[in-house]
Amino acid sequence: MNRFEDQAVPGVRRLQPYQPGKPIEELERELGITNIIKLASNENPLGPGAKAKAAVTAASAELARYPDGNGFALKQRLAARHGVDMVQITLGNGSSDPLEFVVRALVQPGDEVIFSQHAFAMYPIVTRAAGGSAVVTPARDWGHDLDAMRAAITARTRVIFIANPNNPTGTWLDGEALRAFIAAVPEHVVVVVDEAYFEYASAPAMALDGYPDASRWLADFPNLMVTRTFSKAWGLAGLRVGYGLSHPDLADLMNRIRPPFNVNSVALAAAEAALDDVDHLAESIAVNVAGLRQLTTGLAALGLDVIPSAGNFLSVRVGEKAMPVYERLLRAGIIVRPVENYDMPGYVRITVGLEEENQRCLDTLASILA
Ligand SMILES: *Cc1c(COP(=O)(O)O)cnc(C)c1O
Repeated sequence: MNRFEDQAVPGVRRLQPYQPGKPIEELERELGITNIIKLASNENPLGPGAKAKAAVTAASAELARYPDGNGFALKQRLAARHGVDMVQITLGNGSSDPLEFVVRALVQPGDEVIFSQHAFAMYPIVTRAAGGSAVVTPARDWGHDLDAMRAAITARTRVIFIANPNNPTGTWLDGEALRAFIAAVPEHVVVVVDEAYFEYASAPAMALDGYPDASRWLADFPNLMVTRTFSKAWGLAGLRVGYGLSHPDLADLMNRIRPPFNVNSVALAAAEAALDDVDHLAESIAVNVAGLRQLTTGLAALGLDVIPSAGNFLSVRVGEKAMPVYERLLRAGIIVRPVENYDMPGYVRITVGLEEENQRCLDTLASILA
């Protein structure tokens, strides 16, 4: 029993903390083994590109200074990239920040936030911490059921979260359907389209016909917010930088509660440099497309059900119960992610790694399941 439990605000009392993927160092300590691979947190297996790394080194000369609290240079780059005004951007310590800010700005105790079954774990956390009620709509074929989400809207709905693609299912929504949905949502409800995997999903080689860039609809829908991150395809998860794009008035509200200097100077510099590194992004995408194919084919050959994914990860059914398989993979030095807490018992989520990492994961799974 937590000695402060009775003093905690009710939303916090019922919260389960976010479960991150197990760090490599922790497994090393526990098992005393090396050569561990982590395919658990949807990180870019190539890491950051040379330009971002050079920017980190250069920025480290100025560590005694506070960062630019407005992130002017990065915002200027992002505004040009997305064809929006700088005042529409809310920078975050990861895109987790704007995902939280929008709820803190709009949701009072008793208000409702809609998201899908199997949706990203941050949504229930930020909703409940604010005292909001989570309205979870059942998934359809593992993905978001837009009809069910629309039917769930009430006068108390404030925010709807839609991850496109969704993590951990990898499912994605077509532009026509998503746009029609947003157009049908009343203006008192903010629709947040979480595009953490946009760079992967939108790559031509992924061949997702109709996968949309929701940021292009911002001028049409004042109640639309889009989030992006440097944590996934850009390879900068450790630096924590992401952003929200929205109507300037919503960005204004979010910037009122944004902690000053929430994005550090090294992260600002690295993110800006990463945007210039088109070659590294292209290589990252190529590694992902090949790796997704390798894992999908390999897992299917083991007779396992794979949910087709638009991201840099996939969820696969490994049996009646996933924990024993997860544990045996751990003991073999392979960290994946159990997704029981996403209402997906029997499944694990595997992040696409380098070719040899994917192969080792497949070979180990084959021997575990034999
Ligand atoms: C990884 C992820 C994020 C991004 O988290 P950061 O805070 O930007 O590192 C957001 N949404 C989804 C669905 C994700 O999988």
